[in-house]
Amino acid sequence: MSDNSNRPGSTRRDALKLGAGAAAALASARAVAQEAQGQPLLGDPALPEPSGQRTRWAIVGLGTFAVGQVMPGFGPARKSRMTAFVSGNAEKARKLGARYGVDRFYGYDNYDSIADDDAIDCVYIVLPVGLHAEYTIRALEAGKHVLCEKPMASTSAECEAMIAAAKANDRRLGVAYRVHFEPNNVHVRDRIAAGDIGAMRFVSGDHGFNANPDWPPHKWRLEKALGGGGSMYDIGIYGLNTSLMMLDGDRPVSVTATYSTPEGDPRFTEVEGGIDYRIRMASGFNVAGSSSYCWSPYLSRQRYFGSEGSIEMNPATTYYDNRIRFEKAGDAPREYVAGNAIDQFAAQLDGFSQAARTGEAHRTPGEMGLRDIRLIEAMYRSADAGGAVVEL
Ligand code: NDP
Repeated sequence: MSDNSNRPGSTRRDALKLGAGAAAALASARAVAQEAQGQPLLGDPALPEPSGQRTRWAIVGLGTFAVGQVMPGFGPARKSRMTAFVSGNAEKARKLGARYGVDRFYGYDNYDSIADDDAIDCVYIVLPVGLHAEYTIRALEAGKHVLCEKPMASTSAECEAMIAAAKANDRRLGVAYRVHFEPNNVHVRDRIAAGDIGAMRFVSGDHGFNANPDWPPHKWRLEKALGGGGSMYDIGIYGLNTSLMMLDGDRPVSVTATYSTPEGDPRFTEVEGGIDYRIRMASGFNVAGSSSYCWSPYLSRQRYFGSEGSIEMNPATTYYDNRIRFEKAGDAPREYVAGNAIDQFAAQLDGFSQAARTGEAHRTPGEMGLRDIRLIEAMYRSADAGGAVVEL
């Protein structure tokens, strides 16, 4: 048997010199060579798992995000694969099944029979928000682990019921806060934690777009029963959750908020068109944020101000293109990209697959989703009372 250990790409140092893409290709080539020589491959963490050993996922709701981002995200995943689709549109499901090699199909009427399907380990809920709680709880009761899209549900009471169902059925429950797996945001989190901008003094996050009431995926977002809430539920939650991700160990203690819905705008009879908020943190600084369904162009911006430097991300939470601007007193500002944003989708899937199979904690558990919905409910209470301080 030949020894590959002195060949290029066979050491970690070589891998770093080559870059991740080339190193992965070399690792795969090495794997094929080893397999041909009869050496065991399993247990090598550098390799994607064989298809038959991956965690198996059902996707529930085959809409814009599921088709555009979630399904392609399985391509580079290393521990996860799709085995089933749940949809109200059987023809669409079968067409997508043909594209992705998925051959198990369910509708919403026979959804509970996934309980008898041993080829499903995890369920990914990609439905409108008003349906998250019901379909999550039904999947948990069917014995499946559930990753649920953001925001977790319409109310904190629903979030609590989802967490209780996960506990009662001994299943993992995660909220799909993909930013926790996005390499640029992870990098910024680590720099802040390492003290690179000194002590945190102020954080702000601004997120918005212009809602089109004639486009079906925006139409349900403007209806309270399906959207749960308004701009803060759908887009503002990225800023809220990302800001708190950067402040691990700190805790919100009070919140004030004011609506910024344009007067007389016919889109906003059921949910808010915009909201500005300010959260007081236990360590004595503020997290400010704004969200809107009335901004153009789309905005996704995060800013972190410290005692010795600042970081701005603009865009901050997009699918493909997040950028970092780092500034420190006395140094020239530096703009850079720390990783490929697209990696976030596969990383999130594999992270949840790992939690599901080992029972270890997922990075973005149901409790995090509940925390955020409670905060947004407190914002609404404050805004309803004209900007009153709401203690948390
Ligand atoms: P879409 O409207 O495009 O898709 C929702 C899908 O849900 C529909 O295509 C349909 O799929 C199914 N559905 C079942 N019942 C209904 C109903 N009563 N009304 C409408 N759709 C229904 O929405 P999105 O894909 O934009 O959003 C889906 C979820 O993903 C939401 O929770 C949203 O917050 C989240 N999201 C997350 C993003 C992220 O970056 N993490 C980005 C965008 C969205 P079918 O025809 O197969 O039954």
